[in-house]
Amino acid sequence: HARRIEGLDKNIWVEFTKMATEYKTVNLGQGFPDFSPPDFAKEAFVKAIAGENFMLNQYTRAFGHPPLVNILAQFFGKLQGRKIDPLTNVLVTVGAYEALFCIFQALIDEGDEVIIIEPYFDCYEPMVKMAGGHPVFVPLRLKPVKADRLLSSGDWELNPAELTSKFTKRTKAIIINTPNNPLGKVYRQEELQVIADLCIQHDVLCFSDEVYEWLVYDGNQHVRIASLPGMWERTITVGSGGKSFSATGWKVGWAIGPDHLLKHLRNIHQNSVYHCPTAAQEAVAQGFMTEFERLGRADSYFTQLPQQLQGKRDRLTRALCASGLKPIVPEGGYFLIADIANLSKSQIDLPDSDDQDDAFDYRVVKWLIKNKGLSTIPVSSFYSYEHKKDFDNYLRFCFVKEDSTLTAAEKILKEWS
Ligand code: PMP
Ligand code: GLN
Repeated sequence: HARRIEGLDKNIWVEFTKMATEYKTVNLGQGFPDFSPPDFAKEAFVKAIAGENFMLNQYTRAFGHPPLVNILAQFFGKLQGRKIDPLTNVLVTVGAYEALFCIFQALIDEGDEVIIIEPYFDCYEPMVKMAGGHPVFVPLRLKPVKADRLLSSGDWELNPAELTSKFTKRTKAIIINTPNNPLGKVYRQEELQVIADLCIQHDVLCFSDEVYEWLVYDGNQHVRIASLPGMWERTITVGSGGKSFSATGWKVGWAIGPDHLLKHLRNIHQNSVYHCPTAAQEAVAQGFMTEFERLGRADSYFTQLPQQLQGKRDRLTRALCASGLKPIVPEGGYFLIADIANLSKSQIDLPDSDDQDDAFDYRVVKWLIKNKGLSTIPVSSFYSYEHKKDFDNYLRFCFVKEDSTLTAAEKILKEWS
């Protein structure tokens, strides 16, 4: 095999999605909604395939189906307060995954350092490595808080001095993710400003993964780092149609940024994937056109979905507390993580026979799947090898689920406590 894939063969999604299916669990593991996408989006997809314009079943423009890049440019231009050119500032990809892959392949060279904030969406690390780069990790740290309230993802912060110490001559880029997977942290403007200042001072690129941009709770605001002064020229923002319309299987994503960076992404894309399926792009385009008309209004899906999810988040939080776990209430995103360090021995009876080499949270996740029929994801999988052992007592739960799924999970948690 090629050297660039050395040591990258393990993948948590492959491993735990297989187990979740095999054991027929209540699945709060992999992040996807188990409810239907909105009708207007589904109907647009059906029409794209079976409607009068049969050409929507054929190839389209390599760098993005024209209606989609047009509406994305219009939509994000409005949100960012800047003119975005559909042909040079937007690239449509096969999910946010491919946007990330193109970013690293196009802009990271052998020996370049890329700063990754822990906990991070797991694919950043292998993607940096496949490009020949070196990941440099900096953790979010839990600040001291009074014990009389639930913890929030906002209690996890970057230490500015520690972050500054990671910038070297070899630093090419930093990747951020807001709202964050798995913690649910939504970066505040001041926090992003610290990152932006460092990027400008050290002439470093910023890759901003904002796939959960619509999903912020409790009145928090999603701030786009590309909109801070001096950042547009050095930032690529990644989004996801699957996350926007609760249709993760559609795999339509995008990268938005300045032409001098995006032209290199287009080079990778045209020589590898070429283009994302036309009908899925057409459906996402129609979805954004509908949403553009009602942006900020009560009838907007991007207004309604977070309201609905906040209720689901609160429901799962209560169930976890009742079972003796300590959830960290997320400010945004699909997930919450919960501390399992305080569970009693009678609650988790790990057999001596299981894989002792696995981290504690991996063993608990496997035990929960096999013995309780509940799927979750071990949070140490979102940490680098060096730091896993310090963060092996959290499980990640996805709450973007039908109420009946949450009821089934509550029942398991109750019996478990
Ligand atoms: N970034 C983050 C933070 C994610 O959680 C995911 C998972 N969906 C992706 C990127 C990939 O998104 P997509 O499904 O659009 O490829
Ligand atoms: N982003 C989703 C999650 O974190 C799915 C990831 C995947 O399937 N590779 O669960």
